[in-house]
Amino acid sequence: MIQLTTAATLENAITKARTVKPRVHVNRFGSYTVTNKATGATYTVECMKRDNKRFAHCTCKAGERGQGCYHIAAAVSAHIQLATERAQLNF
Ligand SMILES: [Zn+2]
Repeated sequence: MIQLTTAATLENAITKARTVKPRVHVNRFGSYTVTNKATGATYTVECMKRDNKRFAHCTCKAGERGQGCYHIAAAVSAHIQLATERAQLNF
């Protein structure tokens, strides 16, 4: 579990996500399956908000160690987009 503060937290992961371009499948709002299309490796990323702080968790080895991996970077990007769309609908 990592806390998402600034974009700098995930800077390296975001760069890697842009290179790898993993597929992000939305299981539900806050839960994403991220697939590396080249290797077929699949991980689950959960995004959550507690006490106004944002957290993310990934099932890969780096994620289990609390590191910001590119799966989290990719899923958070999709999550922010979904959250923005939901906010626009809930006017
Ligand atoms: Zn990961």
